Amino acid sequence: FGFKGCQKIRGPQIRHLLEAKDFFLFDCDGVIWHGEKAITGAAQVVNSLIRSGKRVVFVTNNCTRPRQNYMLKFSRLGFHEVMLEQIFSSSYCSALYLRDVAKVPGQVFVIGCEGLRRELQEAGIPCVEEADEPEATIYNCTLVPDVKAVLVGHDDQMTFLKLAKASCYLRDPDCLFLATDNDPWHPLSGGRILPGSGSLIAAIEVASGRKATVIGKPSRFMFECISSQFSGLDPAQCLMVGDRLETDMLFGSNCGLDTMLTLTGISQMEEAHEYSRSELSTNHGLVPDYVVDTIADFLPAFED
Ligand code: PLP
Ligand code: CA
Repeated sequence: FGFKGCQKIRGPQIRHLLEAKDFFLFDCDGVIWHGEKAITGAAQVVNSLIRSGKRVVFVTNNCTRPRQNYMLKFSRLGFHEVMLEQIFSSSYCSALYLRDVAKVPGQVFVIGCEGLRRELQEAGIPCVEEADEPEATIYNCTLVPDVKAVLVGHDDQMTFLKLAKASCYLRDPDCLFLATDNDPWHPLSGGRILPGSGSLIAAIEVASGRKATVIGKPSRFMFECISSQFSGLDPAQCLMVGDRLETDMLFGSNCGLDTMLTLTGISQMEEAHEYSRSELSTNHGLVPDYVVDTIADFLPAFED
């Protein structure tokens, strides 16, 4: 398209792009909702795309809920056309990785929220039970001998003992080190931030001297999960829509997809321009192909 480039598109250009693509990948937080509040017009856009026969999936790095909870959230927020098969979270894809790719010959030590454990349980992945050791310290805690993977995601109950145990397990070079996602932080209201999985992973990387394999965006694995479940998926027909350059735009370009930044979330136009001016060619994958203020800008394209 003549209008492809790191610039805002509107009206007829958006319509043209939506007509040309048949597979839409949406990041969740910052694109279709902010926490518990849907972005104005997002549900109508998603429902209209699905009704018009476009294929739509959601690709979220949030590993704290199982897919069933996302289903409830989608319907609660008015996304009535969305089905379970359209939801790809970093916890679900981590479970698929452990089950279908890694095929770990032992148990998994998990640092993460209950939702991550539920997703692993559903995929039949054996996880180490948190031993009931109220007085345990790193000097006397139990280390389970057959742990063959450590999986780390966002954990609001993170402790020094969990950090220590993970680092001990990772002394074994045959023990895999996986991360649901490597997001550094997430915005909260009132100037607060929520430290992301990446902040916990960094601590374990330092203590273990190992590097985690990341499952979530910007790694390609989530797209491989989508491809294996949607036949005939052609990257050239896809549009990846997200709000964070370092995860969503890079994910799209790593997978050969056209990318669109929405300005309702984390990254702003100036950062995109900075990456596009960068002399480091590796930064060019972070530059969006298209920019819109909000996905509500898609709405006029559905009017006759
Ligand atoms: N992980 C956690 C714990 C979060 O709270 C969020 C956003 O709120 C994310 C990841 C990012 O989610 P997404 O990829 O949908 O933007
Ligand atoms: Ca996001």
